[in-house]
Amino acid sequence: MTYIDPHIHMVSRTTDDYQRMALAGCVAITEPAFWAGFDRSSPQGFHDYFRQLTEYEPNRAAQYGIKHFSWICINPKEAEDPGFAREVMKLIPEFLDKPNVLGIGEIGLNKNSKNELAIFEEHVALAAELDQLILIHTPHLEDKLKGTKLIMDAIASNPKIDPGRVLIDHVEEHTVEQVLDRGFWAGMTLYPDSKCTPQRATDIIECYGNERIWINSAGDWGHSDPLAVPKTRMEMARRGHTPQMIAKISFDNPHTFLSQSAKFKLDG
Ligand SMILES: [Zn+2]
Repeated sequence: MTYIDPHIHMVSRTTDDYQRMALAGCVAITEPAFWAGFDRSSPQGFHDYFRQLTEYEPNRAAQYGIKHFSWICINPKEAEDPGFAREVMKLIPEFLDKPNVLGIGEIGLNKNSKNELAIFEEHVALAAELDQLILIHTPHLEDKLKGTKLIMDAIASNPKIDPGRVLIDHVEEHTVEQVLDRGFWAGMTLYPDSKCTPQRATDIIECYGNERIWINSAGDWGHSDPLAVPKTRMEMARRGHTPQMIAKISFDNPHTFLSQSAKFKLDG
């Protein structure tokens, strides 16, 4: 069975990871722009990173038969200086024209600060103006519930945004229900020691259903597991979920959301 990992930071992973993912059935990934583990010192640093995402990483993935797509933005962690953030944002339209870029992401909040929220709202306005899909990062731990509400309210205040074209990622037990109730898509991030484990993600599917929800590994430069999606498929199978149900969560749902961009094509 094939799967899609719709949120993973492959610039931080090795070619061995690509090979293991391909062997486990991965056929496509999408890679949001995010913090690289260090703050970049200039907008030019982001320009280089966006070129890496849009020009080099798709070729690396192709060696293993995996389609690579990406999302462009300045992440909330580096958006605390609005002047700097706006310089980076000027680069976004050029990269949205690239053939493998699906939209704006992963935007959102990190510490729920006023500056982060202002830059978040400007990204949302840009997505509305350019009719782009949006991928959203929600804060960690104690900031998550408050940050998720702030994010949903900010989006709701922009009448041009259809929540069905917005994926809110890193949902957990205390945020998933309201994200789905308000018409957004929800992403569960599978981490070895924070966010969701394969077991918790399967519990959430059993409690809240399988509509408008996906799973991803968000594998990056820190402690993370690029095989977290196939491991969750194994957990679901162990509990007796049908192959159709497992395919819906790990292939059909991401395929449906991402296909709202005409650029998301798995063949050819
Ligand atoms: Zn991420």
